[in-house]
Formats: sequence, structure tokens, C-alpha cells
Amino acid sequence: MNIILIGPPGSGKGTQAQKILADFDLAYFSAGDILRDLAKEDSALGKQVAKTINQGKLLSDQLMAQIIRDFLSKNQGSIIFDGYPRNLNQVVFLEESLVNRKGIGLVIYLQVSEQVLTARLSSRVICRNCGAVYNLITNPPREKGICDACGGELYQRNDETPEAVKKRLAIFRQQTRPMIDFFKEKGSLFIVDGNQPIKDIYQLIRKKLIKTGLALIGA
Ligand SMILES: [Zn+2]
Repeated sequence: MNIILIGPPGSGKGTQAQKILADFDLAYFSAGDILRDLAKEDSALGKQVAKTINQGKLLSDQLMAQIIRDFLSKNQGSIIFDGYPRNLNQVVFLEESLVNRKGIGLVIYLQVSEQVLTARLSSRVICRNCGAVYNLITNPPREKGICDACGGELYQRNDETPEAVKKRLAIFRQQTRPMIDFFKEKGSLFIVDGNQPIKDIYQLIRKKLIKTGLALIGA
């Protein structure tokens, strides 16, 4: 059974995905991770990806389709999708691609208020040296701009400045809402209140996945 995890930037999708992967046997398609890796590549595709994400924009459906095809050819089992699909075109493409692979069984939507999202995202800083992540509100470094762990310089990702965040949330609203309505009509949508603590959110997801018939690792 394939699963889609939907949530606006800052909803904690990645964290929930990691918890799901620790409990259930699924391959992980993380659009964010895959695109960030591609962006580091010195290729035409890499440069295009880097330029697009630095502007806080999304990749074209065609480019994403190419990346999905590549991933599917390398991963045979069930998959959890995070950060893809983002619009109805992509939903149609993914459904077609998975038609001989049990389709899309469940769509988990993490619903979080816009105010919470903006605060969470624009307060995140990352160490340039070791990659440690801080939150200026909930988990600030001891010294401003300096990593506790290694003394490296802390920076804010280009797509997490307040302006970029605002743009990303607007894109999310505009493109993702129709998709959410679509899955709701199909009956595969599971809405989770993402304003709760991480572990409470995960308990709801875990219960739902077990109920849907997904086997726990080692069970
Ligand atoms: Zn560091």
C-alpha cells in the first residue's frame, strides 16, 4: 500500500515520515531531500533545481515526473511520498504510475494553522559546518549565530526567510487544496491536527496505518 503525506511547509511532515519509517516497511520518497541532493549536482538538471528552490518556487510537473519515474524504477515495495504530489496533475500522474503497484491507499494530511507555520519556519537556523538545526524560539543556540556543537556559522535557508515562507504557503494553499478535496471525495483522506505535540500526532497516524492493514516491522 502506498501512502501520501501532505502538509504545508513546517507541518513536521519529515519528522512524522521518519517515525513511520522506523515502524513500517516502506521506501521513502522525500521530494525535499531528493531535490536538495540534485541541487548540489553539477549538471543541467542540478542547476535548474538549485535555481528554482532558491527562489522558493516549485519544479515543473514534467521534471518531477522524470524524478518519480527514476525513483520507482529503483524502489519496488510500498512507498511513502512526502512533498509529492503537490497538485492535481501530479496526482493523476502518480495514480497512473502506481496502477500496477496497489495504487494510493491512504493520504495523510497534517493540518496546521498558518500562524504556527510562519513562526516555526522563519525561526529555523542551520549550522553551515555540521548541519545541526536550531529554532530561535524553541531551541536557540547558546550564542547568537554560532553552533553549540561545533562553533560553526548558523544560517537561514533561502526558502525559510519570512518572504520565502509567505510565498511557499501561498503556493501550497493554491495548489494543494484542490488535491485535498479530491482525496476527500475518494475517501482516502485522513486528516490529523498537526498543532499537537509530535508524539501525539504520530500515535494517531500509527493507529490509522495499523488499522489500514500495514504491518509493523518485526510483527
Ligand atoms: Zn555545527
